Amino acid sequence: MNITIIGSGFAALTAVQRVRAQRPDAKITLISPTEELIYYPSLIWIPTGKRRGEQLRVPLAHFFKRMNLTHVKAQVTGLSEQGRVVHTSAGDILNDGLIIGSGGRFMKKLPGIEHSIALCEGISAAEQIRDRLAAMRDTGGTIAFGFAGNPNEPAAMRGGPMFELLFGLDNWMRSEGIRDKFTFKFFAPAKRPGQRLGDEAVDRILKRMAERDISTHLGHKLVRFEAQAVVTEAETIAADLILFMPGMTGPAWADQAGVELSSGGFLPANELGQVTGLQYTYVAGDSGSYPGPEWLPKQAHMADLQAKTAADNLIAELSGQSPSVKTKIELVCIMDMHDRGILVWRDEKRNFMIPFRLLHWAKQAFEWWYLRQYR
Ligand SMILES: Cc1cc2nc3c(=O)[nH]c(=O)nc-3n(C[C@H](O)[C@H](O)[C@H](O)COP(=O)(O)OP(=O)(O)OC[C@H]3O[C@@H](n4cnc5c(N)ncnc54)[C@H](O)[C@@H]3O)c2cc1C
Repeated sequence: MNITIIGSGFAALTAVQRVRAQRPDAKITLISPTEELIYYPSLIWIPTGKRRGEQLRVPLAHFFKRMNLTHVKAQVTGLSEQGRVVHTSAGDILNDGLIIGSGGRFMKKLPGIEHSIALCEGISAAEQIRDRLAAMRDTGGTIAFGFAGNPNEPAAMRGGPMFELLFGLDNWMRSEGIRDKFTFKFFAPAKRPGQRLGDEAVDRILKRMAERDISTHLGHKLVRFEAQAVVTEAETIAADLILFMPGMTGPAWADQAGVELSSGGFLPANELGQVTGLQYTYVAGDSGSYPGPEWLPKQAHMADLQAKTAADNLIAELSGQSPSVKTKIELVCIMDMHDRGILVWRDEKRNFMIPFRLLHWAKQAFEWWYLRQYR
């Protein structure tokens, strides 16, 4: 059984473990540009100095050896033969079955986007925010925080980390005694940003913004960014620093996959994780567009669940059985606020949130526990 897995992020590495646990004899080839995992959930702590970049860059050489896989250090550029051939910058790779976990991309179409910093871009963006804050520490200034979705696929957005950054910096600056030098503004084209977390969460978030002296600029389409302003259809919001999480779209190579992409540019999948239009090919995590409730999250936890489904179904299919595992849909996150946290939980039956000081420590403990498997 010759299985190729694309990516070395949350989805791909979970798929590797699941395949290896079930099929010790499988030949696994993993294609990704680097031999490391970037632990995105802790990027929010780089601007305040709670984490350094290298702590979130996890080398994978030992893990790859343990998993007995072949790592091809390359960029995937496309697929052919229904997924049986993966084209890469290092040549073509053949497989019996394929799992795609190459993540998503952030849309950069908004004019003037270069005037904003997107935390989601990774460690260097988080360090840039840290340095800009350090430069503003004595003088203070206005910081505009915001996020948007993909207009063609509204679920393709990542707002949670922007709330974490906003409330985390607010608490951190208060603890440092410098918050009164800064003005915080929050903008989003949505009238109720973060709706995927549920009604109660949005109500609480907006209430907290009001209590914390954070002005809100909601419900208007973004027009452009300027060096010191966010321009919406309704107003010009002056700011010295713009922190913005753009909407998401699929991986850059997706248009060469030989399938019709979802309206937002993602690889379309059914509830089993199979890519529509290909054979023996599955997708997990941020690369895919899946059937499901409108609150279906693009999250590491969801990527892990989808990767398990993809691995189970692919192995079943390659063993001549019918794939039948459906992904459990669950939104679970700890929204961190620098010295406290809120657990947000949503599944088909429940939707609740629990604020608790110890959750800040729980999020750090989870980071340690999760990364242990790769270290
Ligand atoms: C700031 C921030 C905070 C977050 N906080 C949380 C949180 O608290 N909880 C949570 O659950 N989720 C959180 N997320 C979301 C989570 O990180 C993503 O949902 C998750 O990373 C998706 O996993 P993935 O494997 O699909 O993609 P990724 O983790 O993005 O991995 C994609 C992999 O594919 C590789 N790749 C890309 N292009 C190619 C190519 N052409 N060829 C080969 N390989 C390629 C990349 O190098 C990478 O290894 C956060 C995200 C951000 C940005």
